[in-house]
Amino acid sequence: MEHPENDSQYKGLQVNGGVISQPTVNPYLKFRPLRRRELTPADYVDGIVKGNVSILGQAVTLVESIADRHQAVAQEVIEKCLPYAGESRRIGITGVPGAGKSTSIDVFGLHVIRQGHRLAVLAIDPSSERTQGSILGDKTRMEKLSQEKDAFIRPSPSAGSLGGVARKTRETIVLCEAAGYDTIFVETVGVGQSETAVHSMVDFFLLIQLAGTGDELQGIKRGIMEMADGIVINKCDGDNVERAKLAAAQFRNALHLFPPTPSKWVPEVLTYSGYFELDIDKVWDMIDRYFDYVKKTGYFDLKRQQQAKYWMVETIDEQLRSNFYHLPEVRALLEQKEMRVLNNEQSSFTAAKDVLDFYFERLRNRD
Ligand code: GDP
Repeated sequence: MEHPENDSQYKGLQVNGGVISQPTVNPYLKFRPLRRRELTPADYVDGIVKGNVSILGQAVTLVESIADRHQAVAQEVIEKCLPYAGESRRIGITGVPGAGKSTSIDVFGLHVIRQGHRLAVLAIDPSSERTQGSILGDKTRMEKLSQEKDAFIRPSPSAGSLGGVARKTRETIVLCEAAGYDTIFVETVGVGQSETAVHSMVDFFLLIQLAGTGDELQGIKRGIMEMADGIVINKCDGDNVERAKLAAAQFRNALHLFPPTPSKWVPEVLTYSGYFELDIDKVWDMIDRYFDYVKKTGYFDLKRQQQAKYWMVETIDEQLRSNFYHLPEVRALLEQKEMRVLNNEQSSFTAAKDVLDFYFERLRNRD
């Protein structure tokens, strides 16, 4: 077959040497650092105090990080924010899944914002570690609030023990307060240990309950009721009103049997509807009255001082434990001792003493 392009008249098919084209990208660009400049602790503090939400978010991420170098910066930022913190109402909100926490926080939050406040919603969700995702504090669960510029919503920190997660939330409170949020909600699922952690960082503890089948008091841990400064029965709407009112009466009776609270405040029981936004102001009046009361009696400051002490001791406990259990030699010795204890070759007490002696000896030799 004839190939016309092989004919010498088709000169155009020849490949000519190219010309060097002008660069389309600024050649000096590569000399610029590619990564954003890392913020210094002073930058963080400055941004937070000015109410810069993006910097606040980044600082919270640092607080939540487990990397040592992030923690070093985070701790410095927290300490420098402390003088700006403390001026807020910290409110813990708990209730079993389905009680209506997110619906209620959405409307309580709007109520607070309409009164001219700025609100941070944080969460402690011990399950978030297991499920690889927090079920609390999720922005999509609080549709109205998430569109408010005066609301800062942050899901639960997910890594670490409950103590670790709670400590991070407590530190985040400090940052939020320094950023000008004067109302803090800390949400948790009312099913276990996390309430104690929340209770140890808030001024007011609100328990959301549902009217059920007549035996409402069953399944509620006595300890949680004892911690509550207010119990509110949600979903008091439609044909549920009577049942909700009955449940409220039952809770009131039950509370009579409890010892007086340390603040001497008598916990109140109210009904409301988060979904239909009924009696939200009544719930809020109760919380206002509580704050007036504890500020007048001095219990507000006393409780905050006790909480500060509690968290110092908690932090020491946690650091000691983590330092101890992270040493490979200690872990190896523990394993040996465990075997001996299980085989009845050594008592638990002397085995523990041996491991501790080894640990302390090791600390001494390090100096
Ligand atoms: P959470 O798991 O405690 O956060 O509960 P949600 O806020 O997600 O509410 C659970 C369900 O109860 C949802 O289907 C809500 O629409 C519904 N719910 C919440 N509050 C009310 C209320 O006041 N009245 C009624 N009838 N339903 C409600």
